[in-house]
Amino acid sequence: MAKKQFKAESKRLLDLMINSIYTHKEIFLRELVSNASDALDKLAYRALTDDKVGVDRSELKITLTPDQIARTLTISDNGVGMTKEELESNLGTIARSGSLQFKQDMAAAEGDKPSDVDIIGQFGVGFYSAFMVADRVTVTSRAYGAEEAWRWESAGADGYTLTQCEKDTVGTDIVLHIKADADDERYGEYLEQYRLADLIKKYSDYIHYPIVMLMHKSRQKPRPEDAGDDYKPEWEDFDEWETLNSMVPLWQRPKSEVKAEEYNQFYKEKYGDWEDPLSVVHVSAEGAVEYKAMLYLPAHAPFDFYSREYQKGLQLYSSGVLIMDKCADLLPDHFRFVKGVVDSPDFSLNISREMLQHTRQLKVIAGNLEKKIKAELLRLLKDEREKYETFWKAFGTQLKVGVVSDYGAHKDLLKDLLLFLSSKEGKLTSLAEYRDRMPEGQKYIYYACGADAGQLDKLPQAERIRDKGYEILYLTDEPDQFVVDALGAVDELPFKSVDDDDALPETEEEKAALEKKAEESKPVLEFLKETLGDQIKEARVSRLLKSGAVCLTADGPITLEMEKYLQRVDPENAKTMKAQRVLELNPDSPAFAALQQAVETDQEKAATYAKLLYAQAQLIAGIPLEDPAGYSELVCSLMK
Ligand code: ADP
Repeated sequence: MAKKQFKAESKRLLDLMINSIYTHKEIFLRELVSNASDALDKLAYRALTDDKVGVDRSELKITLTPDQIARTLTISDNGVGMTKEELESNLGTIARSGSLQFKQDMAAAEGDKPSDVDIIGQFGVGFYSAFMVADRVTVTSRAYGAEEAWRWESAGADGYTLTQCEKDTVGTDIVLHIKADADDERYGEYLEQYRLADLIKKYSDYIHYPIVMLMHKSRQKPRPEDAGDDYKPEWEDFDEWETLNSMVPLWQRPKSEVKAEEYNQFYKEKYGDWEDPLSVVHVSAEGAVEYKAMLYLPAHAPFDFYSREYQKGLQLYSSGVLIMDKCADLLPDHFRFVKGVVDSPDFSLNISREMLQHTRQLKVIAGNLEKKIKAELLRLLKDEREKYETFWKAFGTQLKVGVVSDYGAHKDLLKDLLLFLSSKEGKLTSLAEYRDRMPEGQKYIYYACGADAGQLDKLPQAERIRDKGYEILYLTDEPDQFVVDALGAVDELPFKSVDDDDALPETEEEKAALEKKAEESKPVLEFLKETLGDQIKEARVSRLLKSGAVCLTADGPITLEMEKYLQRVDPENAKTMKAQRVLELNPDSPAFAALQQAVETDQEKAATYAKLLYAQAQLIAGIPLEDPAGYSELVCSLMK
């Protein structure tokens, strides 16, 4: 019989399949099972609308039959089947609405080899994927309502044949003649029962019809009652039908019916975590876009979370069939720690990743999920503080990066989720909590930068602020300062460094008194500048200090903390990017009085004092001394 030729575009697709640019060949099973499931759906639907049909829904199923000797894998369904014409048009051409786009993606894939691999599993490749693992395929089908059956057969690119045949029941049998094993590919694995069972679990677990296989097993024969200690157990083989898929996905079940244990079990199995998640959000949305989603917050960061290897994304299903394993567009970067699944009947199986990105549904879903995640985090923050702090420990840095990135585009969304270490009992606080505790008259959110809370608790320049009962945020983590800079203010309440000259508002009298003191101290300040030279920009009478004698602050855009940070991450540039140091002195302190006297009477001693005070200011600020031995000599010289 003459072979019929495939339509041009089908032929191209077929070529691609046979030459198999795809490395994930295993997805052929997902594709064929999904087609079978559709065929079952169609028959079930007919049964609903056509009362003459005697279809028993509970009989509908998909059967896998591997035959290792014949080297065939048969996928059967008792669905709606295909007529001769349907076999011809469905399997001889790509007669689908998405086919044009599909073709373009293919062309793009061909032109750009590396991206070939990316496409794998990203969109349905349909029936033709059978040719990735089979060198010959026969499809025997009897359409619902037809008496006759037809067999379609093809060995690939050279065309196909159609012959009439016998088939007792309605439905379709697809027989794959599995390719011989090659050096780089062991096709024989698709004839192994346990491998097939695994693939069904992986890709088609939630197909809502049973996928069954006759499994070969063995068990121990019953132990005779009079068996003694020398009895040797005997074994027997048997075959048993097994349903490979669980059929109803967790996310399709009503929230009220899913137990916490089931949510956690699913998470741990699916994402290979040993620890329960902190929380799960189960969404069932109807309306403009219909979808179900199940989102998890892990309790700890995966080992590669802060590396390039980590890929964000949610699994995307279309009515129970997995269409994308890590759909990155469903998650914003700042929530890239979230794991989970989205299932929406609004996506077609054949959609390409490029197409998907542009769909309105995807954007709507992503937007909704972002809101849900934020709401859940806020709920934890409010009601389950301990859990939230665990979350913060694992992923706080990600949220901070989120505030700073994209020119602060997400800061309003994220600001409520931030935690900072606080002078209040050394605990973590949110900005809202800080605000709620603020005494009347406080005009700023105060912060201090440093290595640890213990050091910041004693910061001399913060004494007046502490005395007023104002709480101070301790920025001890590297990105903190950048976060505060990006935020600028929260609900019109500005951030203020405790180092800032105007950190506390002053009365006119206070101002005048300080000016007077500055005037009187002029000779001392000038002496300091002269002695210390380029090490400082200026020495000034401090409005910040109360009992402390000195502290170091910075003038200009680069703070001392930024300088330290640069020193760590970019020592080369750090040489030129220095903070302009200001040595602040407390004119009411005994040390200042001693310095003043020395300036008037003993310049050599005064120079020693000047160097000592500057060294102390550096130490308090957590800046290492350039010449620690010299400093030590100075101190010892005073002890003589
Ligand atoms: P898609 O499923 O994306 O439409 P395929 O190439 O996988 O594309 O299949 C083409 C068509 O062949 C299907 O749309 C369907 O009409 C038909 N078909 C495939 N497998 C079966 C089956 N097992 N039973 C009935 N019809 C089928």
